[in-house]
Amino acid sequence: MAGTGKSKKRLNAARELTQVVADYYLECQQAHDQGKPVGWMPPMNGVIEVFYAMDLQPVFPENWSPVCAAFGLTPGNFEVSEGMGYSRDLCGYLRNIVGYVYSDMHAAHVPLGGLPEPDLLISFGGGCIPAMKIFQILEQRFPSSRIFSADLPQVAVEDIRDHHIRYAVSEIHRLIDFLTRATGKKMDYDRLEEAVILSDKACALWDEIMSYRRFIPTPISAAEIGIMFVMVTRQGTQVAVDFLTKVRDEVRQRANDGIGVLEDEQVRLFWDNIPLWYNMGLFNAFEHMGGVFVAETYSAAWSLRLDTSNPLEALAMKSLMSYSLVSCLSIRRRKEMVLKACRDYAIDGAVFHQNKSCVPITIGQTDIRRALLKELDIPSITIDADHMDARNFSHAQFQTRADAFMEMLLEKKRDRGRPGV
Ligand code: SF4
Repeated sequence: MAGTGKSKKRLNAARELTQVVADYYLECQQAHDQGKPVGWMPPMNGVIEVFYAMDLQPVFPENWSPVCAAFGLTPGNFEVSEGMGYSRDLCGYLRNIVGYVYSDMHAAHVPLGGLPEPDLLISFGGGCIPAMKIFQILEQRFPSSRIFSADLPQVAVEDIRDHHIRYAVSEIHRLIDFLTRATGKKMDYDRLEEAVILSDKACALWDEIMSYRRFIPTPISAAEIGIMFVMVTRQGTQVAVDFLTKVRDEVRQRANDGIGVLEDEQVRLFWDNIPLWYNMGLFNAFEHMGGVFVAETYSAAWSLRLDTSNPLEALAMKSLMSYSLVSCLSIRRRKEMVLKACRDYAIDGAVFHQNKSCVPITIGQTDIRRALLKELDIPSITIDADHMDARNFSHAQFQTRADAFMEMLLEKKRDRGRPGV
């Protein structure tokens, strides 16, 4: 059935992603085996560049959750965390990670060898509450790890001021001092500058790839969003730049040749909120009626360009803004971003994922839907689901609503095409 399980991918470069993912997790295991210090951290901040510049191994437990979902590990992990008393209403990433670290982390059924245990735990703040709480739990699970907590402010993107940036820079200095003391490794500032340049190149490539989605028909859909794996785990490295260059070349070629995801693209869709990691096939669920997901919440999440002339300030800005661009936006700002995406990508209809276990990204959807209809005449539907927990999603119910929504959008387009209407 269309719309279940794995998504259908069209890009050759995206097929290489499987290898990129496997290489990364192999590198993590090898680092651990060879005695290179391994640090677990939240994604979307400047710690990754600091780690690569100091020859330390970064690991992202939050990013491990989609891997668990894709390999069917989440039900077992949820059973463990729920058995410990964690409520089903909590963030699915948090529940999955807790379940994973409190089960056999390297059992035979765990894909890619699992995660190496952390020598360092870096809680950098600046994200949502569950993102920080995860590290409090990890500190209890791995008591021999060295712990660093930066406590950056949860400040909305539009409210960032100079004193926030100065504070974030001072926290990065404190992080570097801590890492030097904890591991004996020294910061190589030339390497840090290089890492920031590579991160900025990756962001520029990301932006360029997204820009080709404006083409009609779109050459790339949300079904390929897994490419952002390199934006989470490989920023600051040549690996990310090389992979995204291949994706960019292929997408550009398809755009210039007029090759779309669908031969007959009828309706262009926007997806709001995190994908259903256990059911990425949902991004193909509208294709049998000519609907394609052209843009999604993550389209703009990696667009943050870095000031390469000032690496520490660039990383401070990234740490304050990056996670916030997804999870700590005012409703007004989120509305502006969704409306802008819908204008830029010539969207006909939007699907709002009411994510049961992610309040920060779900809040405000009613206001945004109203604004979309009023200001841009773009209709939308909501679907009740959860980015990690398949128990909170009914595929049959979804497909019925999705088909009815598509029929309405197609009818609306036909009406627009009729003379005098
Ligand atoms: S933003 Fe949502 S999904 Fe991400 S950690 Fe926070 S609550 Fe969980």
